[in-house]
Amino acid sequence: MPSSRKILRPRWLGVATGAAVLAVPLVLGTPAAAQPAPCDPFTTPTLDAAVPTAESVIGIDLGDRDVTTAESDAYLQAVSAASPKVTDGVLGTSVQGRPLRYAVVGQEKWTSEAALAQIGRDVGRLRDERTPEAQARQIIRKMPSILWVAGNVHGGEESGTDASLRVLYELAARTDCAAQEILDDAIVVVLPTQNPDGREADTRRNAYGFDMNRDWFARTQPETDAKLEMLRELPPQLFIDAHEMGRPTYFFPPNADPVYHDIGETPLDWIYNVYGGAMTEAFDRFDIPYFNGDVYDLFYMGYGDSVPTTGFNAAGMTFEKSNRDAADVRLREQYTAIWATLSAAGAKDDELLTEWRAEHVKAYQQGVAGELEPNQLYFQGAEITNPVPDIDVKHYFLRTDDPAKADEVQRVARRLQRMDVDVYRLVRPLTVPDYTPYGRASAATTLPAGTLWIPMAQGQKHWIQAMLNEDTYVPFPYFYDVTAWSAPLLENVAGGRSGVDLRPQAVALKEQAEPDATVTGPAPRLAVWQISQTSTGTIESSGWLRWWLDNRVGLDFADVTAPQITAGALSAYDVLVVPSGSDSTAFNALGEGGRAALSEWVRDGGRLVTLRDSSRLATRLGLTSASYVSATSDIPGSLLRVEVDQSSPLAEGVGDTAYAMYEYDFVWTAGAGVSPVRFPAAGDPDWFVSGFAEGEEQLYDKTAVVDELVGDGRVTLFGFDPNYRAFTGGTQQMLLNAITGPAPSGAASAQARAAQTEPSVAASDRLVISVKPKAARQVQALLDARGVSADVVRARGVVSFRVDLGGLTSDEHPWAQELAQQAARLGPDVVAVRLP
Ligand SMILES: [Zn+2]
Repeated sequence: MPSSRKILRPRWLGVATGAAVLAVPLVLGTPAAAQPAPCDPFTTPTLDAAVPTAESVIGIDLGDRDVTTAESDAYLQAVSAASPKVTDGVLGTSVQGRPLRYAVVGQEKWTSEAALAQIGRDVGRLRDERTPEAQARQIIRKMPSILWVAGNVHGGEESGTDASLRVLYELAARTDCAAQEILDDAIVVVLPTQNPDGREADTRRNAYGFDMNRDWFARTQPETDAKLEMLRELPPQLFIDAHEMGRPTYFFPPNADPVYHDIGETPLDWIYNVYGGAMTEAFDRFDIPYFNGDVYDLFYMGYGDSVPTTGFNAAGMTFEKSNRDAADVRLREQYTAIWATLSAAGAKDDELLTEWRAEHVKAYQQGVAGELEPNQLYFQGAEITNPVPDIDVKHYFLRTDDPAKADEVQRVARRLQRMDVDVYRLVRPLTVPDYTPYGRASAATTLPAGTLWIPMAQGQKHWIQAMLNEDTYVPFPYFYDVTAWSAPLLENVAGGRSGVDLRPQAVALKEQAEPDATVTGPAPRLAVWQISQTSTGTIESSGWLRWWLDNRVGLDFADVTAPQITAGALSAYDVLVVPSGSDSTAFNALGEGGRAALSEWVRDGGRLVTLRDSSRLATRLGLTSASYVSATSDIPGSLLRVEVDQSSPLAEGVGDTAYAMYEYDFVWTAGAGVSPVRFPAAGDPDWFVSGFAEGEEQLYDKTAVVDELVGDGRVTLFGFDPNYRAFTGGTQQMLLNAITGPAPSGAASAQARAAQTEPSVAASDRLVISVKPKAARQVQALLDARGVSADVVRARGVVSFRVDLGGLTSDEHPWAQELAQQAARLGPDVVAVRLP
């Protein structure tokens, strides 16, 4: 592995200073000698009147107001019907049954069903490093590149849809050089809305309450899954994901650091130098305000930019337009960014596919050499505090010798296969001299026949590393989202890696199906109480739970409300699950009668299961002997190994250890007899964190799950969300055991502790700025400048400011991102900055 590489700095920025000075003259009006005059992408259009305008189909011009989903569909279909350059289809169906309608626009010879199928086969050959170069060149000469434009993955962020429709219209109708430049050697796939249910309901999330811009690698939601299947059919070289945000102006890449280390340099070069440059030129020309290199990173593998970039070697880009502006302004700016980018892609002609193909071959060669890409800073020039270690990784293995984990292994293998990763099964035992299990030391190990083998020597090497990593090696302490997502850790599947040359005897694993739903026998009568209809954390935790019960487990449940609990509704149920939420909200909503009814139901034999923040409700009601304190650590969504007591009914099918997704959660203390899942003690070799952690010593020997008998009933309190984004299969098993398994044996706790009400601050849905004490005044000044108050936690020589964003996510919020970015720039005194 090279110790350092050239920092890729946008060529169109002033050298070294980072100041936004154009170093490249505008292309317009300065054609090189002996070359045809370049086409101005924003030249006055000439139009084919046969292609209908929006007004002629839906009665309004695009930009008059945001179109409805039905209007978007109608207009897309009308353009497709009128233009031989356009074909359309439905790539999937939303949770509520709405079609996800797309169009493909290109030269007529490329848009028939047969031609698109041929393009799909050809592009597959380009991704395959075994394809001879001469054949690859021949394919590139005859086939178009594939450019994707998608909008509205957050349902309340409408303008990406309307701008996509305008782009579709112009590509279909324009007869001038600008459209020709794009379509001369490309097809454009237009997916106006990725979230029709959210668009209709004007909600960020889909109908299950999932943020689908966090769902890309896990693909739990039908909208995400179907989109990725279509992306596999027409793999992109460019993927534009058009959003809106609470901040003023416009964002387009370059992204903020950190950037995930194992992303190919080719798409980064396109993003930073080709498309970033083209958009800068266009926005400057039209005097449109914008910012970049700020806030939106390319790290977590759940986004519509990071997954196309890592999984397809495409230039995946997030655009963000202020949601405060009028519809016509939002449309114009989104259109300008998209059109400038498509034009820049079109201008690259065959070079685009040539470079894309080369990136796959290079990734394969890195895999042969066992080389991980290093951490680099691409924009801000902050210091890398956590480099990628100097290790070779040539192979990953997933063990299959625990029958209790068959479904989980199947799910990981399926996830890899459905991103075109080749997975093999050992047909003979294999001795691996440097086998390194996840979170353990290397030791020579003989892996049994049946073990799954994933060699890194594949064109999909970047994606393999992103999915099977032991750690994400966050370069420095700034977090836009969670910092760990390794598939084997999420599913709690045993596996490991090797960095030596091996010659396994293995066969290709056949395509894996989704495992069947878990519950087949008699099921408990189950109720779910969603504490709040407005809190982001509660909406999401509740949605994840409902989706999991409906789709993975196959358990019927009923929603109950606080008034129903007060009226005695729980007598009809055996189990009540309370997704994450505020204990104060719950306490007040129940009132005295509801609190008494809930407590009595538990003592009379009911089973109460609480997730994450709502576990505090049990202390409020005096239903547990456990107690909690606020997190003093900075752990922004990392996977921590926990130890599981094998005598506990929660351990069934889990194993000795599991990985908890811990995110600024409350820290619980409980007696040994009621503490079946624990964080390891200091110095215990089980202690392991995947992702970022500072101050983690607060968790040594603390309780992760409390499980105790109360009267004739039982309470099971999860200190973290065991069903985080519905992708934590390993800890979902504990939750399933809590709902359907036997109760622990033994006597009820003699005396529950007195009700606890403090502290009330849940850090998990807050903006966190943690600094060394000498920078605390600077942070306070940033807060004062906005008239903002924060809860301040002082511990371990760190001052941690936790700012309530009123239930908004940071990208919906008007200044949270700016504040975070200013804090991140305070230099080496910054311990962690985390955006919710
Ligand atoms: Zn968004």
